[in-house]
Amino acid sequence: LLQAREVHLSFGTTPALRGAEITVREGEILAVMGPSGSGKSTLLHCLAGILVPEQGEIHFDGRRIDRMNEAERSSLRRDTFGFVFQFGQLVPELSAEENVALPLLLAGVRRGKALTEARSWLDRLGLDGLGHRTSGELSGGQAQRVALARGLVARPRVLFADEPTGALDSLTGEQVMDLMVSAAHDEGTTVVLVTHEPRVAAYADREVIVRDGKVLALTAEPVG
Ligand code: ATP
Ligand code: MG
Repeated sequence: LLQAREVHLSFGTTPALRGAEITVREGEILAVMGPSGSGKSTLLHCLAGILVPEQGEIHFDGRRIDRMNEAERSSLRRDTFGFVFQFGQLVPELSAEENVALPLLLAGVRRGKALTEARSWLDRLGLDGLGHRTSGELSGGQAQRVALARGLVARPRVLFADEPTGALDSLTGEQVMDLMVSAAHDEGTTVVLVTHEPRVAAYADREVIVRDGKVLALTAEPVG
């Protein structure tokens, strides 16, 4: 579904990706592991059309993301991809349900319909009744489930999750991962999950490791 070939990207004189290659299959949950600074987030940003590599190719569903202009990449991100980041990054002025509704509102869905859909995702993630709270009135785990609901509400083909449990204790992190995995499998959503925690990576169908800007396959390729 999604593939990076021979991707190189530097920040000034710091090489972040040095010939990274990765294939993400339709419907799988792929964990991207590796030490701090190895290039995991940079690789995710290239796959998601947030950064454009200096060299190499990014293929999504038969299209070259690296050849798209900013407007094309931005509509791809809005219409086809979902995102969850380490600290949730909810808009503090908005309520939980408004935060979840945002991707739908940006896609032109009517406010009433978007909020109804947002509430059903909040219910599904065990947050019924908390839709009116702002992020300051939620626990870390609740806020991260709101961020997960926002990442999934527009039914993306691919959910990009960068350290989605990074700010949580391990029990809360496990609850968030359980919800992410079951929602992704139910919806047929492909997930690219960046984490440095083996316990979080254990939720994935397959793992790769990034080291010094290159990707090493960790789990053997399934046969047939
Ligand atoms: P972590 O586990 O700490 O999140 P990571 O594997 O996600 O690390 P990246 O964020 O991809 O690592 O960074 C790869 C390299 O690129 C690092 O050397 C980092 O310092 C550098 N880097 C990342 N983003 C920038 C930036 N915006 N400007 C300059 N250097 C950057
Ligand atoms: Mg990172």
